[in-house]
Amino acid sequence: MIGLTVLGSGSRGNGIVVQSDDASILIDAGFSSREIQRRMCTVGLENLKLDAVLVSHEHSDHVKGLRVLAKQLDLPVFCNRGTGEVIKDRGLSPDQLSLFSAGASFTIRDMTIEPFSIPHDAMDPMGFIIRTPTHKVGIVTDLGHVSRMACHHLRECDILVLESNHDLDMLRQSTRPWSLKQRIISRHGHLSNDDSMALLQQILHPRTKHVVLAHASQDCNRYDLVRKCVTANLTSWQRPDVQAYVATQDTPLPTILAQ
Ligand SMILES: [Zn+2]
Ligand SMILES: [Zn+2]
Repeated sequence: MIGLTVLGSGSRGNGIVVQSDDASILIDAGFSSREIQRRMCTVGLENLKLDAVLVSHEHSDHVKGLRVLAKQLDLPVFCNRGTGEVIKDRGLSPDQLSLFSAGASFTIRDMTIEPFSIPHDAMDPMGFIIRTPTHKVGIVTDLGHVSRMACHHLRECDILVLESNHDLDMLRQSTRPWSLKQRIISRHGHLSNDDSMALLQQILHPRTKHVVLAHASQDCNRYDLVRKCVTANLTSWQRPDVQAYVATQDTPLPTILAQ
């Protein structure tokens, strides 16, 4: 079994709970500790005992509640060395950190986690593959461009969480400063809806049954646009068996269960 619950996603906070038969982990703690626990309650996870927090990178929309949550729930924090150097400055003590390296898998009970490098403007950002004895999940929420490495790791997943950050026209027309637009569009920024669909087309596998589009911008994208985009593409690829979800900033998605 594998369960995946997006507690919320976007530039103001990210958090995803992944559960197997034996383990429960949180990927990123980008909301306050109280808000993470409140959101877990709203989707029926109030009694879930988390085993660990994994950190993809040090941007505040991924670590805002990390220190307090780790302390309150006495959770080990898994991150790589580069991310660890930065988040130590946020008051996490080194003995709370369990360091991993890109390309080296590690286990938490019956889960095997494979962190891999992704292009994004952080110290050492990571995507994650999480395997249970029966299932494979791939998660990349902040991706500057579709790298061969990301494609390689994301093959044959049962559940995918992919960034679909902005609509290029909406971004170009937005009132954001030019430098910020450039940063978002750059090869180390965020993935557009079109790029996200191109990535999905490359990695969609017969066993992929659930796709979550995440980290949508609130002023340079629209949730209904992302949904329209993914629905149209799945239809044209003749994959009506795939369930698509659009993660939002403020409301958790119900738990996606793959049996
Ligand atoms: Zn980021
Ligand atoms: Zn982010």
